[in-house]
Amino acid sequence: MITRRHFLAGAGLLPFFRLAGAAPRRVVIVGGGWGGLSAARHLRALAPDLDVVLVDRQPAFVSFALSNRWLVDAAAAPERHDYPALAKRWGYRFVQAEVKAIDREARLVVAGSERLSYDWLVVAPGIRENWAAWQVDDPATVAELRRRHAGAMAHGSELVNLKERLATFRGGDLLMTIPPAPYRCPPAPYERALFIAWWLKKQKIPGKLVIVDPNPMMPAFRDILLERYEPQITYFDHAKVRRIDPQRRTVSTDIDDIPFAEALLSPPQQAADPLWQAGLIRPEPDGRPSGWAGQGAVDFRSPADRRVFIIGDACGLVSPSFGSYPKTGHVANRMGLAVARQIASEATGKSHPAVLPESVCHVQSSIEPRESVHLDARYRDRGDGFLLQTVKQTRNPNPAGEDIAWAETMYRDFLRP
Ligand SMILES: Cc1cc2nc3c(=O)[nH]c(=O)nc-3n(C[C@H](O)[C@H](O)[C@H](O)COP(=O)(O)OP(=O)(O)OC[C@H]3O[C@@H](n4cnc5c(N)ncnc54)[C@H](O)[C@@H]3O)c2cc1C
Repeated sequence: MITRRHFLAGAGLLPFFRLAGAAPRRVVIVGGGWGGLSAARHLRALAPDLDVVLVDRQPAFVSFALSNRWLVDAAAAPERHDYPALAKRWGYRFVQAEVKAIDREARLVVAGSERLSYDWLVVAPGIRENWAAWQVDDPATVAELRRRHAGAMAHGSELVNLKERLATFRGGDLLMTIPPAPYRCPPAPYERALFIAWWLKKQKIPGKLVIVDPNPMMPAFRDILLERYEPQITYFDHAKVRRIDPQRRTVSTDIDDIPFAEALLSPPQQAADPLWQAGLIRPEPDGRPSGWAGQGAVDFRSPADRRVFIIGDACGLVSPSFGSYPKTGHVANRMGLAVARQIASEATGKSHPAVLPESVCHVQSSIEPRESVHLDARYRDRGDGFLLQTVKQTRNPNPAGEDIAWAETMYRDFLRP
């Protein structure tokens, strides 16, 4: 017998109707980073009747923002919040589990022993590191390399281990690889390099930071890194890592073999596993996977499935003129708000205005004397779906805690009561 539910489901309309006596409709959010936490918190506020379930394999959110100084100096530790406390604070349900599969046909997320059905799905799992691009395919070797030499760009929980490794570094070549663009938080590796070079100099550690960079270095850092810290830095320009030999502690580029005593290894980045498994990666025109998700530029909906939204660093191309949004926590946070508003509009029938991403980023460009650079990216819909991007870079010769004020504003949105 064809029921009303079957009819609506067949027509793809089920999420927009509430059946009398039915269980609350559910939004499952995969990934509790800057994007997923923002979506969860705003959904609870805008559509309190929805059941919101956040899934993450980690026990806690750890922020990367403001972590670079702390790696080598006495500074406030990166913001860390246990998920159960956040879930209680904002009123969503948290499931700690690895998402192994998303079955879009059945509208199910398989997370550990749970099978979570959904009416809407928000996929926000961030990035994965592509070690295979460096000829490392064996999972045990990848795990060992991450344990010994992680560049700490994939999850904030890796930062503590990196700080401990730096604290025991006594000298020699300290290798740092920068991933090819696009990667998360473009100025972050250069700011990190600056702090490490400053620390080597200040502590008189007989070591060199060897930077292997496939990209052009950000101009704001170039002179200071290569001139003021000339004795502390060796910089390989436009150098792409092709292979790594863990036994010999050597990376190979097209031109050089570069040995290291200690390393911060950051392979090329891609959208995280759940997007590959769920068939949500955008193909290139020649059919090869682009490595990043396919999603709308403004609504973040998957073109393959109207019930699915993709947000955060996993997102791919949004514009033929500027490519993708910068992979920052600020952008991911705004995307979370944007999809929460859309889902709430559909669930409640009450319309909420659309919101576009934006990104503000404060990076330190000199330590003594203190100086910072403020990067500001804004977006505008021209009216026909074509996005315009404005990026402003401002030098601040007299910083007065703008970075901390920015972080506080962000954290109040999705972490603090
Ligand atoms: C050193 C550094 C400094 C930075 N500084 C700034 C800054 O100052 N300002 C700024 O705006 N941005 C900054 N960023 C960038 C920012 O951290 C990222 O852009 C942001 O984390 C992206 O958010 P996201 O939600 O897409 O992904 P994430 O924050 O990475 O969250 C993804 C979550 O998904 C979970 N997950 C992934 N796969 C699965 C799975 N299969 N099952 C279950 N859970 C899963 C992960 O555990 C993770 O918690 C910095 C980044 C770095 C590396």
